[in-house]
Amino acid sequence: MGIKVAKFGGSSVADAIQLTKTKEIIEADKNRRYVVVSAPGKRYGQDNKITDLLYLCKTHIEHNLPYEQVFQVICDRYMAMEINLGVNVDLLKEFDEIKRNLQEGASSDYIASRGEYLNAMMTAAMLGYDFVDAAGLILFSEKGRFLEEETNKALGDELKKHERAVIPGFYGTYPDGKIKTFSRGGSDITGAIVARAVSAEVYENWTDVSGFLMADPRIVKNPKPISRISYKELRELSYMGASVLHEDAIYPARVAGIPINIRNTNRPADPGTMIDADSGAQTDQIITGIAGSKDFSVIAIYKNRLSQERGFVRRLSSILEDYDIAIEHMPSGIDTLSVVVSDKSIEGKMDEVLEEIKRKLEPGSIDIFDDMSLIATVGAGMSKRLGVSATLFTALAEAGVNIRMIDQGSSEMNIIVGVETKDFDRAIQAIYDAFV
Ligand code: ADP
Ligand code: ASP
Ligand code: MG
Repeated sequence: MGIKVAKFGGSSVADAIQLTKTKEIIEADKNRRYVVVSAPGKRYGQDNKITDLLYLCKTHIEHNLPYEQVFQVICDRYMAMEINLGVNVDLLKEFDEIKRNLQEGASSDYIASRGEYLNAMMTAAMLGYDFVDAAGLILFSEKGRFLEEETNKALGDELKKHERAVIPGFYGTYPDGKIKTFSRGGSDITGAIVARAVSAEVYENWTDVSGFLMADPRIVKNPKPISRISYKELRELSYMGASVLHEDAIYPARVAGIPINIRNTNRPADPGTMIDADSGAQTDQIITGIAGSKDFSVIAIYKNRLSQERGFVRRLSSILEDYDIAIEHMPSGIDTLSVVVSDKSIEGKMDEVLEEIKRKLEPGSIDIFDDMSLIATVGAGMSKRLGVSATLFTALAEAGVNIRMIDQGSSEMNIIVGVETKDFDRAIQAIYDAFV
């Protein structure tokens, strides 16, 4: 049997009780030789994630406010874990060093990374595995670009020396050794990178749901689990906000042909979701899943004979590029072109961008739709079926949802609709009910 890499998310390592479940899972299969952990997450709904508390310490310092109380809450949580697990990690020494670095102006990436760092030390002690720091092995360029090949080599060479190891998720280092984190939820990426580096047979991603569900369980009650899904379909869903797995965690597994298995730490007997290159082959199911995200704006540009004009799209793209705004979608009609952008990327720049568009493109008119949400209905089986879009649009109309934009990917694997944010939950429920 090949190597299994097991990544445990925040809720799976939130306290000693959860870590004990994690231990049982790892010990149940001797092939689970490499373990990646997140920082302790929420133990209950109103609880704080350690990562959020660490960022909070940094914010306090930046505003010249006392941070000691927040820092103590963090220390207390780790110390309780250490006592309840009956392990011995030299926590006080670690806390002192983190505190010293904080006072000396350490970056927020550094401080945030300590959540994973301490938790990996704790987990390694609990399991009797080696602790292998991600610093110096997960590598970024000076500009912060992830160096995949260099990392694969460095990490692969190091892990060969360890029969069993725990590696902290979420971060790596710049060439000068300073800490750089991935974006939030990035421990999923570390897990995939480790899986690739050791040529794992499977990358197990342990979380608090029994696999990928057809829709966000916070919106749809008891959505059906997806037993098998392709990397491509999953990438669409993750990109559109299905937050189970970080979107960037798919690539390292996919290039190495390693299947990803999403599993539930609280229900380890459940098979979860298997993600691989094959298109799921769930032929009875028209759609695979639904995902969406909020906070987008649509800039709709109208111009007579637009489709005859040369270079229109290029000029529009270059305006947005000048303002460092990514285009999420660009649906077009004969005399209209819309661009969908995230509110975050255009914040504070909208007026200037509109001025530029008017000056350089001389449109007939421009409409702005803000407070928009995008919803993707994804399924490899969709392209072969007739009437999928009709079913979808009818369902939305019957639910009283206004569709502001439609974009069907050329892969015919998804249909994306833009709706007003107030209709977001209702729209997802309506699509789910129509297909499932
Ligand atoms: P972890 O801390 O283990 O990384 P996350 O919180 O990042 O876990 O991801 C798991 C959560 O994702 C679930 O608890 C669930 O609320 C949410 N979620 C959103 N969309 C889906 C979906 N389609 N299927 C399953 N879970 C989803
Ligand atoms: N602890 C980090 C976060 O909360 C990374 C992770 O959990 O994957 O975003
Ligand atoms: Mg996560």
